[in-house]
Amino acid sequence: MRQITEPARQVDVVHETDVIVVGSGPGGLPAALAAARTGVDVALVERFGCFGGNITAVGVEGFAWYRHEATVDAGGIAREFEERAFEMGAAVPESQSLSYELDSEGFKIVADRLVEEAGIHAMLHRQFVAPVMDGDRIVGIITESKAGREAILGKLVIDATGDADVAHRAGAPTVRTPREALMSASVMFHLAGVDKTAFMEGIRSDPQTYRDWSGGEAWTIETSGKEDEMFSPFLKKPFERAIKEGLIPPHLNTIAGTWGAIHDTGELTYMNLIHLDGVDGTDPDSLTRGEIEGRRQAMLAIEALRRYVPGCGGARLRNFGMTIGIRDTRKIDAAYNMTEHDVREQGRFEDSIGIYPEFIDGYGILILPTTGRYMQLPYRSLLPKKVKGLAVAGRSTGGDRIAHAATRNMSCCAVVGQAAGVAAALAVKSGRDFEEVDLSAVQSELKRQGVRID
Ligand SMILES: Cc1cc2nc3c(=O)[nH]c(=O)nc-3n(C[C@H](O)[C@H](O)[C@H](O)COP(=O)(O)OP(=O)(O)OC[C@H]3O[C@@H](n4cnc5c(N)ncnc54)[C@H](O)[C@@H]3O)c2cc1C
Repeated sequence: MRQITEPARQVDVVHETDVIVVGSGPGGLPAALAAARTGVDVALVERFGCFGGNITAVGVEGFAWYRHEATVDAGGIAREFEERAFEMGAAVPESQSLSYELDSEGFKIVADRLVEEAGIHAMLHRQFVAPVMDGDRIVGIITESKAGREAILGKLVIDATGDADVAHRAGAPTVRTPREALMSASVMFHLAGVDKTAFMEGIRSDPQTYRDWSGGEAWTIETSGKEDEMFSPFLKKPFERAIKEGLIPPHLNTIAGTWGAIHDTGELTYMNLIHLDGVDGTDPDSLTRGEIEGRRQAMLAIEALRRYVPGCGGARLRNFGMTIGIRDTRKIDAAYNMTEHDVREQGRFEDSIGIYPEFIDGYGILILPTTGRYMQLPYRSLLPKKVKGLAVAGRSTGGDRIAHAATRNMSCCAVVGQAAGVAAALAVKSGRDFEEVDLSAVQSELKRQGVRID
């Protein structure tokens, strides 16, 4: 490929702080909140105009749809998100679980309030583009925005970009699933104009279960058996009919999935129906194709819903997510990489920084935590190799594919994020690095903040 040389340039240092958190999704927002609440200065840097990551930018509203009576959760900021959102009118009870479905628009306000209350220095509309390195230590970041390039310096950095952007550019080794085996990408949408009574009557007259996720070439799922008869807000039949009647071309038998919440105001939200294979979330050309193709398929799906789903005859597109939803990109090669065995067999770790119920969702596996089984999450899985001063929170922590089918879930990202924030704050206060922090002090502070770690 032809190349040019960028000239060297001076960059203004626009802010200096204790902890820089890059990315404000289910991993980054809790990291920033926890660090600030543990008493250090925090800057939260985000490329979009709102906090919340996939919740707000993509429209992923099912924060804890796995929770049932016997489920054991870590609590902490993950639980606080649901409760605060409900209190602020930005969540409704979720249809298949004992949890709240977050409102992707309302959660923008919830996140603003949480950030303000914690005294976090908010830095929206800035995309991380490069690390500032002192040898193998990261000492800051460079962002790009309408103001051009700016530098932000910090004692410690948390990479919560979801794509390990900071770790990767700082020189930490990362791993990726081969393109043909990636979890699919999704263009999410929300509808308005649905007749709630008629829609719910339709759902009740033909209830779907998790067993219905299987069947056909495009959809297969391995459960543990106990999930099979449980209700799932799953929609496939209207799209099968649309294929039969020539509305949707046969190769789009991937169109199917779940609806999230039906509101009294006629909105049917978190429509997780479009699944695009082979989209590389770190390649803008691939993302461009995914966005356009995803929107095309969404319009076909909406037409099928209008024709074949009770209550949807007058439905119209309310909005797409602000960006395509990406599930699977870079993960760090961490000091400890979690394994399939850890998430299937209740892994236990001395450096536990939180627990997560036995919820595995991804790569064709669905296991719901309907029993009290749970795993612990090891601190070492947040620590990249070869770069000092850096920890990772969110879906790019260290682990194999099946481990990620558990740890990528938003409430797990929040548990990990809270731990990264507490560790960063205590490390700054004691003048240490992430790998030297007093772990028992981190564990005690997490417990004080309401997190179950054992
Ligand atoms: C379509 C879809 C449906 C899903 N459904 C569910 C579900 O029902 N339940 C569930 O628990 N999980 C679900 N997931 C998974 C879950 O949403 C993610 O794994 C989770 O959001 C990851 O959190 P994160 O904080 O690591 O990353 P993200 O949520 O992606 O947040 C990363 C943040 O960093 C910002 N950022 C990225 N790069 C930069 C940069 N260079 N500079 C500055 N900012 C940057 C982004 O804008 C974003 O705000 C779904 C995912 C998708 C895509």
